[in-house]
Amino acid sequence: MTLTEIRQILEESNIRLTKSLGQNFLHDGNQLRRIVETGKLVAEDSVLEIGPGLGPLTEQLIPACQRVLAIEKDERLVSVLSKRFAESENLELIHADALAYLRREKERDWSDWKLVANLPYSVGSPILVELALAPRNPARLVATLQWEVVQRIKAKPGTKDYGVLSLLLQLGYVAESSFKVPAGCFFPRPDVASACVALQRRERPLLVGGDIDLYVKLVKVGFGQRRKVMLKLLKNLWPESALQAAYEQVGIGLQVRAEAVSVEQFVSLAQALSNNAPSK
Ligand code: SAM
Repeated sequence: MTLTEIRQILEESNIRLTKSLGQNFLHDGNQLRRIVETGKLVAEDSVLEIGPGLGPLTEQLIPACQRVLAIEKDERLVSVLSKRFAESENLELIHADALAYLRREKERDWSDWKLVANLPYSVGSPILVELALAPRNPARLVATLQWEVVQRIKAKPGTKDYGVLSLLLQLGYVAESSFKVPAGCFFPRPDVASACVALQRRERPLLVGGDIDLYVKLVKVGFGQRRKVMLKLLKNLWPESALQAAYEQVGIGLQVRAEAVSVEQFVSLAQALSNNAPSK
C-alpha cells in the first residue's frame, strides 16, 4: 500500500484522520515486510492484528497465515476494510475497542496465536500487558510502538528505562529483537520516534496462577516511588518479618531499590511470599 493509495482511499471515503486514535499509517513496503518477517509466521498460524487502519499490514498477513483476527475501533476504517478485504475468507474483522475486547476475552486461549500489529500508541502498553498476563498468552508479540516505550519493554535492571513495563512483559517473554521504524515511513508523520519489538514467550512460565498476581503487586508497589528503598514500600502491604525472611531466602539486600531487582529475583520473592497474602 503506497502513500498515494492511502491518500486516495482517505479522500474517496471522505475520512479525516483522528489524532487521538493514533492514526499514523505505515506506507513503507520494506518496513511492512520486515515487521511481517519478524512475526516468523508459518502457514498454520493464527494472527491477531490490533488497529489494522487501512490494512497495509493486514494485506501482507492474510496470505502468510491461516487466520487473521483484526480489531479496529474506528467504524469508518472498518467499513473501508470490509470492502477492501471482502474476498478474504481467512480474515475476521471486529469493530471494537481492542483493550475492552481483550479484557472481556481474558479467559480466551491465545496460546497458539501471534500478535503482529502497528499498535495505537495511546493504548499500546496496556494492550501488550493485557495479552502478556493472560492465563493462556500468545506465543509471540510483534508490535510497533513509540521507540521510548520499546526501550522500557527491553530494559535490564539498573538502567533508567527499567521499570513496571519491563517486569510485566519480561515475566512471560524474552525481548528477542527490535529495530527503528523511521517517522517518514508513516502518514501522517508521527511526532515521536517509533520502533518494532519482538517478544518471544518463554518456553516455561516462570510463575503460574495466583503467584502471578502477587508478582504484579510486588512490582507495582516496589516501583511506587522509584528512588525509595523497596522494603519501605512493601512494608505497607506485608509484615516486615515475612519480607525480611523472603529477602534472605532470595539473597537480596534490605536496602535494595526496585530498579536493581531482576525479573528472576521478583519471581523468587513472589514465591517466597506466596503464603502471605498482601493486606491491600
Ligand atoms: N496498522 C495500520 C498501519 O500500520 O498503517 C494502522 C496503525 S495506526 C498506528 C493505529 C490504528 O489503531 C488506527 O487505525 C486506529 O484507528 C486504531 N485504534 C486506535 N485505538 C484503538 C483501540 N482502542 N482499539 C482498536 N483499534 C484502535
